[in-house]
Amino acid sequence: MESNMTNDMHLGIDQMGSCHPYGGSSESAVIFTQEFHSLLNILRPYGTGRNPIGVTDIMQAVSTPADSSSEVLSNPVGVTDIKQADSSPALTNVIIAGPCSVESESQILATARALAQIPQVTMLRGGIWKPRTRPDAFEGRGEQGLVWLREAKRETGLPIITEVATPEHVELALKYEVDALWIGARTVVNPFSVQQLADALQGTDIPVFIKNPISPDLKLWIGAFERFQKAGLSQLAAIHRGFAYYKESPYRNFPMWEIPIELTQQLNVPLITDVSHICGNRELLQATAQKALDLATDGLMIECHIHPEEALTDGKQQITPDELKTLLFNLTFRSKQSCHVERDLAGLRGEIDDIDSELLQLLARRMEVSAQIGEYKKQNNVTVVQMDRWKKILADHVAAGEDMGLSPILINKVFEAIHQASIERQSDIMENE
Ligand code: PEP
Ligand code: MN
Repeated sequence: MESNMTNDMHLGIDQMGSCHPYGGSSESAVIFTQEFHSLLNILRPYGTGRNPIGVTDIMQAVSTPADSSSEVLSNPVGVTDIKQADSSPALTNVIIAGPCSVESESQILATARALAQIPQVTMLRGGIWKPRTRPDAFEGRGEQGLVWLREAKRETGLPIITEVATPEHVELALKYEVDALWIGARTVVNPFSVQQLADALQGTDIPVFIKNPISPDLKLWIGAFERFQKAGLSQLAAIHRGFAYYKESPYRNFPMWEIPIELTQQLNVPLITDVSHICGNRELLQATAQKALDLATDGLMIECHIHPEEALTDGKQQITPDELKTLLFNLTFRSKQSCHVERDLAGLRGEIDDIDSELLQLLARRMEVSAQIGEYKKQNNVTVVQMDRWKKILADHVAAGEDMGLSPILINKVFEAIHQASIERQSDIMENE
């Protein structure tokens, strides 16, 4: 992607309306009004042992001026080198890193210690209860894992986040001082489970990060937000982890960026991209993380393991803390303003792709019906071209198109081409005895 937005792009966004700083347009039905900052309050450093540069400083350091769309900030030699915007809202990137699963005390402690040395890392993740596709696979350490995760938090000062899927998980996570929860993709597909979790969390205001459901179902995702919001939880964020999809793709889960973008346009929530579960392999991580930043997402979730090759779950997609450091170093953090332009464009491009695909299917269907007419004409000895009928149809289409704001030239060209292809198809049928 170009770092300098062209005038055309700016024109485009002006015509579309203003960009909301957190993704929703001013016209959208914003139901979550909490500032991103309130979510980030929990990300302040805990205890001692944490890098002397506080998380808040880092967040401010990676925030970029809202008004300099062409400015590119490359991250980070020293975070203090990076220019701090004085007037723009301090939009920041949350980096949630840690293993897919908490496996042992030594594994989580070694991973956490190394991650705590990376200033951009704002939270430590670790799965305690693992939803597995098939039985007999490693299903997480349960309560024992929470003891180790809390130890990692106490030692490094990193806030911790884990996945909860049942009210019992919620109870234990709160008992072991987990700072934030995420709801997994397999749980979000089930409104009964989501409701049970929302009920279990009523009365707390712990930050809840809601992953997209596995299926590309925006309404189901939004429904999960509504359930937590109704239960009084105000610190909600979205995690985009890609979607199961029938198309061949190099991704483990197809990104379908337009869906999370649409979510942020309908709900005013921060959006984190879980690049690990989108990619499913290490090779795609860098480019996908860059794409997420280019689309103005508010942070990344990246699975990290001290020895990825020994990981009990998701080994192929995990990277070492050192590799994470390199990945973050090679990311370009752009001005949020220009990224929001890109985000809106990506959403609209996704819509265009969908419309084009519908057009193609309609054309194929039309051609099919035309072939059936050809067969019929052949059996009944009717000529292929019936000029009078066609002239009338075309005139009707031009008039209808004009009512929809479409130019007669466009309608004539498109339908002449379609008609021509139809005639050729029917002629072929006639000639093939
Ligand atoms: C995970 O984060 O390890 C996980 C199981 O995620 P998801 O629910 O996105 O599959
Ligand atoms: Mn995982």
